[in-house]
Amino acid sequence: FLLMGKTNFVKQNFNCGACGSDSCRDMARKVALGVNVPYNCVVMAHDEAKHERARNAEYLSLIRNIGDNLFSTEDASYAAQVEESLRVLSETVGCSAVAIWRRAGGPDSAQCKRVFGWYGDDPSSVSIHGDWPAEWIERLKNEERILINARVDHASLFPNNVQTLFIVPIHLRGEFWGFVDAVSIVDRTFSQEEASLLEAAGILLFSGILERELNGSLVTAKEEALAGTRAKSDFLSRMSHEIRTPMNAIIGMTHMGKQADVLDRKDYCLDKISNASSHLLGVINDILDMSKIEADEFELSAVPSRYEQMLQNVSNVINFRENEKKQNFTVHIDSRIPAMLEGDDQRLTQVLTNLLSNAVKFTPEEGSIRLSAALLGEDGDTCTLRMEVTDTGIGITKEQQKRLFQSFEQAESGTARKFGGTGLGLAISKRIVELMGGNIWIESVPGKGSSFLFTVQAKRVLDTDASTSALHGDMQSIR
Ligand code: ADP
Repeated sequence: FLLMGKTNFVKQNFNCGACGSDSCRDMARKVALGVNVPYNCVVMAHDEAKHERARNAEYLSLIRNIGDNLFSTEDASYAAQVEESLRVLSETVGCSAVAIWRRAGGPDSAQCKRVFGWYGDDPSSVSIHGDWPAEWIERLKNEERILINARVDHASLFPNNVQTLFIVPIHLRGEFWGFVDAVSIVDRTFSQEEASLLEAAGILLFSGILERELNGSLVTAKEEALAGTRAKSDFLSRMSHEIRTPMNAIIGMTHMGKQADVLDRKDYCLDKISNASSHLLGVINDILDMSKIEADEFELSAVPSRYEQMLQNVSNVINFRENEKKQNFTVHIDSRIPAMLEGDDQRLTQVLTNLLSNAVKFTPEEGSIRLSAALLGEDGDTCTLRMEVTDTGIGITKEQQKRLFQSFEQAESGTARKFGGTGLGLAISKRIVELMGGNIWIESVPGKGSSFLFTVQAKRVLDTDASTSALHGDMQSIR
């Protein structure tokens, strides 16, 4: 009886009138006792069982094929392979369309997004319009399979020729992931076997999708880790070059200076030793700062200081360098910026010096560099300042801009060879600016120039010595 799908007492007592027995049940009893075997009924039962077995074998092989194909398909043909599986699935259960939908949004969301679907030659004739009703999603979450008469229930969701929609939820590890829906243009039901087939195919397809996503994120994580390792080893070789060059200069010049008998010659050597030592000190300071940042031990100390004085100091250092390259350097300061501010002026100097040194370094002779500072807003005694360093230098491509503020990165490896540098300055600047309650970004056009902009917050403090300085005024220029 089970083989023939006659699972309850009423079905088993069905009188088909074909074999002379009162009912199927009666016939089965006679078959069991070996008496009065109604031959035509046994043949019928046999045929049905055979048919049933063939159908089950067909379902099993379909599921096996879907699995084999999905897990062996190359990325490029994956979507086509899934669609083909859905087409075969759809044909096997006698439907016009079958699709896989994935839950979207948070766990309470009723939204679902179609990830794959097979809709025959005319998708518009069988596709659902609009969103899935929240009540259906709730029932699916409760592991209920839903059979919908499309002409009666939410008819406006369906094109005219759709008669039946059957939805099978997919739960993986007890969690609702989405569902498989089968659309039919005839009014029909779905057998237990057909529902199981849709569910098994759905689980396989979801597993395939998840496996691909997992592989994708593993590949990305691996690539990121490799890129990080590459950047660090590039950094190490750059760093040994950055340290060795001034060290060699110091050792060589000391040797030459000792042997020189003319005073001018000794002075020349001492000058070179002094330059190389400050460069070396800069590199070592950068490394120390970066190691503090990586250990999360980088801190600021806020002290009251004269804002303009700080800009004046920065400008003096840069003036000296850009003079050598005959560059045009201008400074513009918003006169509304308070004269005295409480903040870490040394770290702010470090950021500005780094940006300006880069501007000098990456701008050709006779190019222009501009430093401007503006007051963006005030909230109580907290001022937000915006600083900008603009140059007419080599510029930076969009692709390079993305990596610029990461530690150990330089725009391109050739830069290190041509201009030197540790690739730490911008990462340190970013951290300082963030600790000052602001952020830093870049606007650049390759070949035309770059602007590095950042905001910081500082407290206004009372100016005890209100004498005006050379720089303060409405956007003055020092050159
Ligand atoms: P460093 O200059 O010591 O290498 P930075 O972190 O200060 O390190 O800068 C990182 C990289 O950003 C530089 O190597 C360069 O490729 C690029 N860069 C920075 N400023 C500029 C600029 N003004 N113009 C062009 N490229 C720049």
